[in-house]
Amino acid sequence: MDKKSQPKGNKKPRTSAPEQNPDERKKNFKEVSLGYSPAMAQLEASRCIQCKKPKCVIGCPVRVAIPDFIKQVAEGDFLEAARIIKESNALPAVTGRVCPQEDQCEKHCVIGIKGEPLAIGKLERFVADYERLHREVDVVEIEPSTGKKIAIIGAGPAGLAAAGDLAKWGHEVVIFEALHKPGGVLFYGIPEFRLPKEILEAELDYLKRLGVKIKVNYVIGKIKSLDELMHEDGFNAVFIGTGAGLPYFLDIPGENLNGVYSANEFLTRINLMHAWEFPVFDTPIHNHKTFAVIGGGNTALDAARTALRLPTTEKVMLLYRRSREELPARLEEVEHAEAEGIEFQFLVSPLEVQGAKGWVSEIVCQKMELGELDSSGRKYPHPVKEGPFSLKADALIIALGSGVNPLIAKSASDLKTNTQGHIELADPDINLTSRPGVFAGGDIVTGAATVISAMGAGKSAALGIHRYVMEIKT
Ligand SMILES: Cc1cc2nc3c(=O)[nH]c(=O)nc-3n(C[C@H](O)[C@H](O)[C@H](O)COP(=O)(O)OP(=O)(O)OC[C@H]3O[C@@H](n4cnc5c(N)ncnc54)[C@H](O)[C@@H]3O)c2cc1C
Ligand code: SF4
Repeated sequence: MDKKSQPKGNKKPRTSAPEQNPDERKKNFKEVSLGYSPAMAQLEASRCIQCKKPKCVIGCPVRVAIPDFIKQVAEGDFLEAARIIKESNALPAVTGRVCPQEDQCEKHCVIGIKGEPLAIGKLERFVADYERLHREVDVVEIEPSTGKKIAIIGAGPAGLAAAGDLAKWGHEVVIFEALHKPGGVLFYGIPEFRLPKEILEAELDYLKRLGVKIKVNYVIGKIKSLDELMHEDGFNAVFIGTGAGLPYFLDIPGENLNGVYSANEFLTRINLMHAWEFPVFDTPIHNHKTFAVIGGGNTALDAARTALRLPTTEKVMLLYRRSREELPARLEEVEHAEAEGIEFQFLVSPLEVQGAKGWVSEIVCQKMELGELDSSGRKYPHPVKEGPFSLKADALIIALGSGVNPLIAKSASDLKTNTQGHIELADPDINLTSRPGVFAGGDIVTGAATVISAMGAGKSAALGIHRYVMEIKT
């Protein structure tokens, strides 16, 4: 190509990142996307036109200085890019992998108007991975000790983001986590092939280097109450980030048969307890051949793709009551699942689970059609006239979303919650609850949402907590 006919700046095509071949990856748990090389990252970063009023930043819930870090990538200073990202995002290797960028920063990128938006997520991931492998960027400067103690309940993205900022501002931060590993959904929900555990471990290590202490196997509301933390253990403020991990069920006949799992239980058994390696690890999972998964969100896709990777699995069907267009999961995950051979059955709703000798054998389903828009702005599914039909399956995974565990709210009577059990905020700007000194954020407040929105909430709560304990008037 001569120089004149070469595409310039934003006219260049988006740089694609290499991936594991679908036929290979569908039987292993290794990461699907292999990420950019330095040359690919520089090529992609060179597409950014460095907007004076960057719309991409508005689309980012934690307001990463996107054009600034991308400029550094284009110039080859990857460690400076990492430093810029870490000013506002403590977990970039995680968010670079799991954020729904197509609905956030990349949705607002101006070069996406006429072409493909900049691959901001892939660049963020590259920078974070480069920094991790080269380990030259040390922790940001930690301010002198304030002598204030902050308790964080729950080590998911909301709690971890709050902890990172509070530690940087010189507070003593202790996280109490119910499970034996910190990370929340990042550890027990999102599978290895999307978010390798070693990456999360490295991000957690960064927080520990900031001085954050993490106490695992520590259920607040059982071992200790909120009152005890504040009145006996001398914590000056508390952040609640306990998430929404209580699964919803279908409430249809046959749901109690063997072989029916909630997606949370299924993923926890595999991700946290290595069930597929039984008896080396002591949590079993039955050897199923055909899985049906109900749902269309990230959890359903993760459960389906995890089931596909188990040694005895022959077929995985994903049943969704709307059409492909309405699937709430990240587009990249849908495309990956399709390439791996997950069988999508759209406009299908389960009516009954039938069994043989106590185990799932068939799922009786109803075909649906889409009608008027509902309150969520999506077309509402109605049953068609034709009668039900059956699908053969020996396992059913239900991924219909989840609610909040009432334990914390029950153990602190003056904490206001709404009818769904979500903690209500008295001041949403700083995530303050109805109780002075107690802040909350993430899925426990909003219901099931996203990693980055939970982190955003953790960060605004951290600011509120800092002001509260330092008695700064706003
Ligand atoms: C399978 C799955 C896949 C997902 N994929 C994506 C994705 O690709 N992209 C995306 O943006 N979002 C995704 N999400 C949603 C996202 O993970 C959540 O919105 C996010 O993790 C919420 O963060 P959180 O910190 O509020 O809660 P969580 O991540 O749920 O963490 C809460 C933590 O609190 C602990 N805890 C609970 N009760 C107590 C207690 N009483 N005492 C002490 N600790 C307690 C829990 O054990 C847990 O570790 C996914 C969710 C699931 C389930
Ligand atoms: S909107 Fe797109 S082109 Fe503009 S600064 Fe952000 S990433 Fe670069």
